[in-house]
Amino acid sequence: KLYNEVIELKGNIRVFCRCRPLKQDEIAKGSTSVVDFDSSQENELQIICSDSSRKQFKFDHVFRPEDDQEAVFIQTLPIVTSVLDGYNVCIFAYGQTGTGKTYTMEGTPENRGVNYRTLEELFRISKERSSIFRYELFVSMLEVYNEKIRDLLVDSSKEPAKKLEIKQSAEGTQEVPGLVEARVYGTDEVWGLLKSGSQVRSVGSTNANELSSRSHCLLRVTVVAENVINGQRTRSHLWLVDLAGSERVGRIEVEGERLKESQFINKSLSALGDVISALASKTSHVPYRNSKLTHMLQSSLGKFS
Ligand code: ADP
Ligand code: MG
Repeated sequence: KLYNEVIELKGNIRVFCRCRPLKQDEIAKGSTSVVDFDSSQENELQIICSDSSRKQFKFDHVFRPEDDQEAVFIQTLPIVTSVLDGYNVCIFAYGQTGTGKTYTMEGTPENRGVNYRTLEELFRISKERSSIFRYELFVSMLEVYNEKIRDLLVDSSKEPAKKLEIKQSAEGTQEVPGLVEARVYGTDEVWGLLKSGSQVRSVGSTNANELSSRSHCLLRVTVVAENVINGQRTRSHLWLVDLAGSERVGRIEVEGERLKESQFINKSLSALGDVISALASKTSHVPYRNSKLTHMLQSSLGKFS
């Protein structure tokens, strides 16, 4: 239902579906895909559940197992580059652990993901526009784990972790005072920065996946643009978010610390669902403040901050 509501907002919110290829060990175990595709042109935006239900879901775009990182990136291009025009935008990777969220966003050195490709493109366009705009790009990386915000660009083995909170600025935007904003000048340094940030990320093991990500990982690109002709300055954010696994508590048997984590994850993912539903139904009250995740992303989710 949520997907169908969201689809109608085309232009505002877009939902893509990416089906990753089966891995060698999955093939060896005889696993098969849980979705089918319809190759006719009019149904290319659909996936069909392989089980007897044959349920269909429609998206703004469907990426099939053979689609590579570039194909995915091209679809996100108009969204991510609108940050250079002063818009606040946000991209999420949502799905169960093991479905390819981190691969899509971070990627590997051979197959870089949306995060790196986006920065590469932002540098390229900002150079192209340099006779009209002077751009400054900053990168922040943070994690939301058990409703606590952690700066991933601070090496916690060297410095004590700062307590980070969300504050509203005079302009009405949500800021995280004290968060590191690393100025970036070119792609050379960016990959190293992204890698070191993701290494700091919390990971734990569960029965479902040995490196299941229990936290939301957020990359924030801040663009400060100055119009060299009239001196006007804008500051905007692009958020690239690798969400925690969407699997539910009941499906993976967990207890103690792990159970608490799962409850926090469920809480923030359902808060995100509630915000998107409220935006889609155009109700006046959007419950941004029910989780750190939605509160922080407030100005990049709604039309009005
Ligand atoms: P998640 O972050 O959702 O838990 P990962 O991104 O870690 O999942 O992906 C799980 C595994 O599948 C990883 O080994 C990853 O390299 C691989 N993988 C995911 N998507 C693809 C893809 N489109 N093509 C090839 N390998 C993929
Ligand atoms: Mg992951």
